[in-house]
Amino acid sequence: MSSTISNSIEEKLIESKRIANLEPDLSMKMCTEALVLANKAGLTEKIGDCYIGMAFVARTKSDKSNILDYSFQALNEYKKVNSREGIAKAYNLVGIAYFYSAMYEEAIRYFTDGLEQIEKDEISNLHGSILNNIGEVYRESSMYPKALEYYEKAYDIAVDKDRKYYQATILGNIGEVHLLQDDHDMALEYLMKSFNILTEGNDLVSMGEVANKIGKAQLMIGNKDTAEEYFKRSLRILDKVENQFYKIDVLSNLAQTKEDPEESISLLKDAISTALGVGAKKKLSDLYGKVSLQYENVMDYRTALSYHKKFFLINQEIMNSNIRNKLEILNVEIKQLEEHQRLDQIKRTLEKDLEDNRKELEEVRKNNIILEKEAFEDELTEIPNRRSVNLQLKRLLANYIGKRNTLAVFMIDIDNFKDYNDNWGHSEGDNCLKKIADELQSIAGKRGDLAGRYGGEEFVYISKASCYEEALQIGEDIRMRISDLGLKYDKIDTNGPVTVSVGGVFGRTLDFTGFSQIMEMADKELYRSKSEGRNRSNVILFKTNNLPD
Ligand code: GH3
Ligand code: MG
Ligand code: MG
Repeated sequence: MSSTISNSIEEKLIESKRIANLEPDLSMKMCTEALVLANKAGLTEKIGDCYIGMAFVARTKSDKSNILDYSFQALNEYKKVNSREGIAKAYNLVGIAYFYSAMYEEAIRYFTDGLEQIEKDEISNLHGSILNNIGEVYRESSMYPKALEYYEKAYDIAVDKDRKYYQATILGNIGEVHLLQDDHDMALEYLMKSFNILTEGNDLVSMGEVANKIGKAQLMIGNKDTAEEYFKRSLRILDKVENQFYKIDVLSNLAQTKEDPEESISLLKDAISTALGVGAKKKLSDLYGKVSLQYENVMDYRTALSYHKKFFLINQEIMNSNIRNKLEILNVEIKQLEEHQRLDQIKRTLEKDLEDNRKELEEVRKNNIILEKEAFEDELTEIPNRRSVNLQLKRLLANYIGKRNTLAVFMIDIDNFKDYNDNWGHSEGDNCLKKIADELQSIAGKRGDLAGRYGGEEFVYISKASCYEEALQIGEDIRMRISDLGLKYDKIDTNGPVTVSVGGVFGRTLDFTGFSQIMEMADKELYRSKSEGRNRSNVILFKTNNLPD
């Protein structure tokens, strides 16, 4: 009787593990069913196995605190029956939870504890798995030779045990380390070997990931077409997997194979919605940065800035959630470990982590101050502020000096604004500033340009004008559109509508020497407009003769 129950539990657990990646929810359901059976029959070790199964499912979802929670439950059961292999399995998964939380020291500690449990026994599959995981920690810590050392040990065991697919996984890991060290040829050799084995099996996640890495290696070598083929292949494979997380990197890599920035942006946006769907914040940060750069490529500075802002904010969020994450993990550990056990170790870990967290909080606080200072919007007009505009222009120049792009920058100053304030009062003056800011924003919005408040009653406008004539037109448009707002200097309207003076500069980014040069030239033109009687626009064509067209 007990042996049939035991068999039935085992069958459920094997099936659960087989489908864990593809159907995690069903997989979890099977573990729960197995757990009910094991509890009824009072099979302590099997109860442990069920919890390990559940931790394994949590792992496919990168659900750190549940991996930890289930692993500790398993640990408690295995300890009751003194199952060394069980204990080692549980430690291995605890290490993985820490690894996912980027707490590498703790991860190594648990992996080593796990190895110690089984050292005296015969070399086992578990042995290989733990060694591979230690390799992962070293890889993430950028200690590549160490990583290779452990991967190779794990590989030997996988060969010895004739575990074909596990060999392929480790080969993939070795390939990745070579990729990280820019050794594409070596990387490709390992990755192809891995891929060929994996295509015979059904581990779709590994297959998709290795195809992605092959694409990356091909891209580094300069074989764009082959790279594209592998990225697309990877996407087709990963489409069949429920967890969309793995597709994010592939979409982002595929974007790199596109010459056309629009195509590239569209793929990056797909990657962003996937990342948003699974809440992958680190990936989002990377993607927002990339999209921002791409918008600069097409000289859409306004959108570039909005993505830069998202990039900045998500990084803040990541900092905060790292801390929350660590505290959550610590809570699980404290809850699960019996009080008399490992008390010293817990205390040491806790003290160290609290100290680390305190430092991190300090860091976050500092960053919040920077964020406040750097606040991207002008409070009154809610358009980009001076800092924001400067930042954007500097980033743009840093990326495009030497490239064949054109650029127009305008300074805009309200004429006789002092009079407006004197006649209507400061608060009406504020409203006037808002209306003018709105109008500039609306012009910029239609063209994909960027308008900002530079300070006081001065504004700046950055445009992707493609020729001097267009720049002249934009300056004139700005002047007329503001004047057409019909804002009056005084009640009897003796002086006509409120006007602005505009000063601009147009040139190729490769001719400019820097940010201050551009601003100075625009400012000089503004001064010219003022001295010519205000309500006019002057734009200078900047051209050096010593560079080819
Ligand atoms: P010009 O045509 O030479 O530019 O004359 P102006 O009067 O505009 O120039 P001036 O530099 O003499 O005065 C600028 C005025 O803008 C004075 C200041 O009170 C007003 N101002 C600056 N910032 C704000 C603001 O945030 N709100 C309001 N209401 N007024 C502001
Ligand atoms: Mg002024
Ligand atoms: Mg003024």
